[in-house]
Amino acid sequence: MTVPKNNHKFETRTIHAGAAPDPTTGARNTPIYQTTAYTFDSTDHAASLFNLQNFGFIYSRLGNPTVSVLEERMANLENGRAAVACSTGHSAQLLALHPLMEPGDRIIASQNLYGGSITQFSHAFKKFGWHVDFVDATNVKNISKIINPKHKCIFVESLSNPTGVILDIEKISFIANKAKIPLIVDNTMASPYLFKPFDWGADIITHSLTKFVGGHGNSMGGIVIESGNFDWFQSNKYPSMTMPTESYHGLIFAETFGDFGYSMKIRADSLRDLGSTLSPTNAFYFINGLETLHIRMERHCLNALKISKFLEKNKKISWVSYAGLESNKYNKIAKKLMNKGVGPVFTFGLKGGYEAGKKFISKVKIFSHVANVGDTRSLILHPASTTHNQLSDTQKIKAGAGPDVIRVSIGLEHYQDLIQDLKNALSNV
Ligand SMILES: *Cc1c(COP(=O)(O)O)cnc(C)c1O
Repeated sequence: MTVPKNNHKFETRTIHAGAAPDPTTGARNTPIYQTTAYTFDSTDHAASLFNLQNFGFIYSRLGNPTVSVLEERMANLENGRAAVACSTGHSAQLLALHPLMEPGDRIIASQNLYGGSITQFSHAFKKFGWHVDFVDATNVKNISKIINPKHKCIFVESLSNPTGVILDIEKISFIANKAKIPLIVDNTMASPYLFKPFDWGADIITHSLTKFVGGHGNSMGGIVIESGNFDWFQSNKYPSMTMPTESYHGLIFAETFGDFGYSMKIRADSLRDLGSTLSPTNAFYFINGLETLHIRMERHCLNALKISKFLEKNKKISWVSYAGLESNKYNKIAKKLMNKGVGPVFTFGLKGGYEAGKKFISKVKIFSHVANVGDTRSLILHPASTTHNQLSDTQKIKAGAGPDVIRVSIGLEHYQDLIQDLKNALSNV
């Protein structure tokens, strides 16, 4: 294999990690293996695959060669051990928690999560008997104060959507470590180019690939990545990992597979039974997206800085919340954790509140009014009436999506055109 080892630079790994020319055809780009099933050499071979005694492809719900390349590349870029891709970011969150949680267990989660995640955690997960304690994790003492033996993990966003809150992942990892529970970091908004949670003590990473990894607003996907460093046997909190699994003839995942036992458990149990598999065609889009991740993120950050500075000076804007600005309270921690930049998603407030916000959005021409981030195109949104609509008013304000808030995801157009577009729209409000 010609796969670069981790000592290659990030930029080289975005293009090469996990992939090699197709061994049968020589195809240089990773082909889309659009197949449901794979032939077995013999019945014994089939049985050994089904019993996880041998690695190989069986049926694409459980694994697919195109999806595998994406998994290996993402694990590599995050400095992780192994990964499992799936159909959406939300599915990644469900799969990440599934091996950890039993009915009656609790999760500590940052209150600064993507609106859809707050809804998923507080409604869908409740039906499984999983309870969530939301905390303001910008002060890590709020976590230590409430942590108890029923908590099976801590879940946070490294860079929150849409408020751009940057948490001290290192300090939070100390707390998780002491409690012998994994720290799960949703690294969607930073992408592995801007931040690597494992380097700061996280144990598990989730991503919505839909955003910057795909990068072109064309495919949905998610992924769970494990660091390989979490010791499942240090407590008896995780029976799914450390006790015999009935549906695999008593196999103990953390024992048999060691530092990739959690990924194996997710694939062989959670993905097998919950079924939220990524299609090989979408995996192909994500592999191709990754190859320009470093260049896109750099330009996204540059454009966002130019535009946030323009907005900060504009008289019709009451505030701009972008951690890339010196005036922002997360600028200091951004310099420590994300010194290449803090992405292109940020919020600002329009004087005139709700009505002015709606009018402004109706007047922009280059910006698209859509509920997404991380596209090549610049996107604009009023979270209070859209992504965060299902939250209560207090939850909206806590999540940074109050009535006057406008969210933008700055794309890769020329920043001067974007500034002109915003100027024109502002002159109408
Ligand atoms: C979009 C998003 C998700 C959910 O991902 P989907 O692919 O839409 O399911 C989760 N976390 C963050 C930070 C997101 O931006």
